Amino acid sequence: DPFAYAPAPESRAVVDIAPSYGLFIDGEFTESSGREMAKTLSPATEEVLAEYTQGTAEDVDRAVAAARKAFEKWSALPGAERAKYLFRIARIIQERSRELAVLETLDNGKPIRETRDADLPLVAAHFFYYAGWADKLEHAGFGANPRPLGVAGQVIPWNFPLLMLAWKIAPALAAGNTVVLKPAETTPLSALFFADICRQAGLPRGVVNIVTGDGRTGASLVAHPGIDKVAFTGSTAVGKAIARQVAGTDKRVTLELGGKGANIVFDDAPIDQAVEGIVTGIFFNQGQVCCAGSRLLVQESIQDELLDALKRRLSTLRLGDPLDKNTDIGAINSAEQLARITALAQSGEAEGAERWSAPCELPSAGYWFAPTLFTGVTQAHTIARDEIFGPVLSVLSFRTPDEAVAKANNSQYGLSAGIWTEKGSRMLAVAGKLRAGVVWANTFNKFDPTSPFGGYKESGFGREGGRHGLEAYLDV
Ligand code: NAD
Repeated sequence: DPFAYAPAPESRAVVDIAPSYGLFIDGEFTESSGREMAKTLSPATEEVLAEYTQGTAEDVDRAVAAARKAFEKWSALPGAERAKYLFRIARIIQERSRELAVLETLDNGKPIRETRDADLPLVAAHFFYYAGWADKLEHAGFGANPRPLGVAGQVIPWNFPLLMLAWKIAPALAAGNTVVLKPAETTPLSALFFADICRQAGLPRGVVNIVTGDGRTGASLVAHPGIDKVAFTGSTAVGKAIARQVAGTDKRVTLELGGKGANIVFDDAPIDQAVEGIVTGIFFNQGQVCCAGSRLLVQESIQDELLDALKRRLSTLRLGDPLDKNTDIGAINSAEQLARITALAQSGEAEGAERWSAPCELPSAGYWFAPTLFTGVTQAHTIARDEIFGPVLSVLSFRTPDEAVAKANNSQYGLSAGIWTEKGSRMLAVAGKLRAGVVWANTFNKFDPTSPFGGYKESGFGREGGRHGLEAYLDV
């Protein structure tokens, strides 16, 4: 039967993971001042992939010193010279994209289709885009002599490890800053491979430094007096702690935090298209997306029809081996994250919402959660308010556009929203009233390096992407 489902696994052999990794400081891999190592594993199999270094405060100090030294020369280079390095990095990422996609899928658990078709192309696109800015800063309305800030301390999460790195490093370097970046503790590998790419591109020593480790390493970096700017992406709780920590210093800070995006479907929306957008909104990357459309707001008159179509669609999703090219739903990134999702889903049931999960078999090893939706959800439910960061959709309904706006804005967060309607006037009117950094029109989770991204309210402040993303690394 030519139409039978045949698993098509991507080859693990395209990536060569070393058993153990040091820190990338001043252009080379070095050992830590301490002896503590940590392990990173494949969330799909629980197999250990490699050991990496738990960076100490002294390691951070060495990395900042290297970045400081490199800053003098890097910031003095003509923009066109910096651009050449960034273009070279972008090209190497393209050339090595298959390897990097497999690596990211192994370390994170997300499907290879996503790393291959979304993460990696966007990573390269960000380096190309910011390379193009490096020699045009004087013409971008930043004033006659925009200057880099200095050394940036950058801390990123595990949900898009390489893409978050690109969002941070590409604009910082284009603007003439140097960086010390700390990847998340469950996904350090792609940042370490990126270090190798910097070497391959001939990037001057110390311009990019990668210090692996957990929250303690991140806290040492944020606290270091030698950094001029903190760029953080992660949870709202840690973001608030960082804001408190940098208060009273002269450090700049940008915070990209959590979200609880509303995906609003009006009764004139094309149902099939909206269903695809809802699925992308909350099940892309197993819902571990800061801007996920985790609240579905559906107009009452089409609720039954939409939910029937959605459940039918969810029943066709394939959950399993993330390296299989046919997989739609991969593994949850860690045991801790799975426990968090499970507890929040249980709270939904305990508080009286109705749970429906897609019928799929979960592998016995690894961390898995079936695509799930809750109906009968009201604003009083925890699952309507708290970020779940998993494949769990809370369905609420509304009657009028004003009610939709009120419910969408009734959140501590304000990162993303989506609107589905054929009426342009309604689209614009509703979008204008939403308090969210990005509003998608008849689509969801669409990204582009030219567009600024960031939050309102407890989703943080500052923008990444586009011209605004550069401004966050400049004194004007
Ligand atoms: P997290 O805040 O626990 O960790 C993020 C990073 O911060 C990790 O590298 C971690 O080691 C480090 N860290 C932890 N404690 C620290 C401290 N005290 N000082 C400095 N660094 C510290 O978040 P997470 O669970 O890894 O990521 C999920 C969260 O990230 C979600 O809330 C999600 O919405 C958010 N996120 C936001 C965006 C955005 O652009 N707004 C993008 C992706 C993820």
